[in-house]
Amino acid sequence: MRRRNLLKFSPSIAALLILPTTSASNQKKRYAMLMDVTRCYGCMACVAACAAENNIPIGVFRTWVERHVRADGNVVFVPKQCNHCENPPCVKPCPTGATFKRADGVVLINDEICIGCGACVQACPYGARFVNPVKGVADKCTFCEHRLAKGLLPACVEACPTAARIFGDISDPDGEMTRLVESSNVQILKKWAHTGPEIYYKSLPKEADI
Ligand code: SF4
Ligand code: SF4
Repeated sequence: MRRRNLLKFSPSIAALLILPTTSASNQKKRYAMLMDVTRCYGCMACVAACAAENNIPIGVFRTWVERHVRADGNVVFVPKQCNHCENPPCVKPCPTGATFKRADGVVLINDEICIGCGACVQACPYGARFVNPVKGVADKCTFCEHRLAKGLLPACVEACPTAARIFGDISDPDGEMTRLVESSNVQILKKWAHTGPEIYYKSLPKEADI
């Protein structure tokens, strides 16, 4: 059984195999996600799981799934979210330091010092941020960092019925994520922006790179 399938059916084993919980081990990690567009059929299970897991208000989204029509007329579904960029343009404009990038690559927001000014929302070229209408602070995908800390996969990954979302440590040269990214013809969104996304796509249609 492939390791991804093993993780899907046994999260507790996943904790032992792929996501050590200590902060020391996080120093060496670099989390990434691969969206396999050929596997996504637009069921929105990931969107619903994210909203439930993270208590997201109605009308705003940490992840969403776009419908695009390829040049040949075929319809494809493309999941999107924060790219946890290597060079995140959302960090610098933050006047309080509330937005920051962790050593394991996860870009986070400190709710305690965010003033909800929206500077980071404007700076993100992917439209991945919003000001939470309930909390009044900036919000976006966290890779479910509270779940990672327990050795669990992000809620969207666990919920996807077709394994269109694959999550792992891309700093591990022998890991599945590294193997997939190196062996597949992967794309990133808005390469021209030089943000270094950690969300990779397999079979991304050019119509979706907006
Ligand atoms: Fe920041 Fe947007 Fe990059 Fe996420 S996708 S790290 S919010 S610039
Ligand atoms: Fe696509 Fe999986 Fe999300 Fe369903 S759960 S919309 S198949 S990525």
